[in-house]
Amino acid sequence: MLQSEFELTVNPTRIVFSEGAISRAQEMVEVLGCKRALVLSTPEQTEQAESLAASLGNCSAGVFNNATMHTPVDVTVDALRVYENSRADCTVAIGGGSTTGLGKAMSYRVGQGQIVIPTTYAGSEVTPILGQTENNVKTTIREAALQPDIVIYDPELSYGLPEAMSITSGLNAVAHAVEALYAKDRNPVASMMALEGAQALLEALPDIKTKSDSVVGRRKALYGAWLCGSVLGSVGMALHHKLCHTIGGMFDLPHAQTHAIVLPHALAFNEFAVPELLSPLANVLGSDSAGAGLFTFSQAIGAPLSLEELGMPHSGIESAAKSAIQNSYWNPRSFDQAQLHRLIENAFYGRMPETMG
Ligand code: NAD
Repeated sequence: MLQSEFELTVNPTRIVFSEGAISRAQEMVEVLGCKRALVLSTPEQTEQAESLAASLGNCSAGVFNNATMHTPVDVTVDALRVYENSRADCTVAIGGGSTTGLGKAMSYRVGQGQIVIPTTYAGSEVTPILGQTENNVKTTIREAALQPDIVIYDPELSYGLPEAMSITSGLNAVAHAVEALYAKDRNPVASMMALEGAQALLEALPDIKTKSDSVVGRRKALYGAWLCGSVLGSVGMALHHKLCHTIGGMFDLPHAQTHAIVLPHALAFNEFAVPELLSPLANVLGSDSAGAGLFTFSQAIGAPLSLEELGMPHSGIESAAKSAIQNSYWNPRSFDQAQLHRLIENAFYGRMPETMG
């Protein structure tokens, strides 16, 4: 059905997508009009970062390899010191959402040009959103200038992403698509991208589970991640993202796994209010219900299903429901604390999701 009213701003990031595209990093530094790029990575991806820096030749200003989950401000300050001492004029972040976050946090302070080479499916590289942590408090900033200038998608770099991380990172991306499908400010372009992105990932993940370096699977997953990240950056999210932010922050749970577990439950709950917006996704899943279909899909590919397994305490069900009800935010369906308690409890035990209609 054609949406009768909408507004949208087109995503300004330049996308370079191909196997082997990492070899174009130096060319992209020059496209930015820059001369010296500081390469960013986590400690675990130092080897990849050093090899990238070597390939940049004279355009390399070295490597800063201490990107850290949740973007702590003290790490950003260290990185900026290295950036200034090395006379760099742009950054190239290679890695997942944590490394991309560091590049954005630096840009928030000094406005340098940003190139990102993603190696997970988190999607941060195509959003204007920065989450950073100071004194244990995580804040989120949304500003157009934070959006990276160029993204190099090279599927070959994700061949080594471990199976479990591939699955949870892929489902984290699907979560962006699900909430874009019923977003308050949804638009026809975002809805098409969301459905195409979710479908690409739902087709790719079983393929990757069978063969981690499946060329077609990895290409499709990264393509899906780009689309899902793009809609995260362009329309508002709702209950699912709010719950994951609350639960993940309260109990220090891993980001992608928390999304993977909560998603079928938030989806089933919202599906009751907007079945027509989610029926295309149910079709992709081959099910009458998107929520139940996604839960069955997650079971089949061995995704984590229970928050208890992630280490959340049982007492956390009530405290998370209480906390998540406090700040108001838009959702396609209104809810009360008892419903949130039940939703979180189902996710805690890994039960089949309920619509609670
Ligand atoms: P991550 O970046 O923390 O990576 C997890 C680990 O996997 C790291 O050690 C990393 O080096 C390693 N890794 C990454 N790619 C690899 C590969 N191909 N092979 C082997 N190891 C690899 O995890 P993530 O899930 O990508 O990102 C999570 C973070 O991103 C969270 O802090 C989240 O809040 C943020 N995020 C932000 C946005 C946004 O728009 N601002 C969007 C999504 C996620």
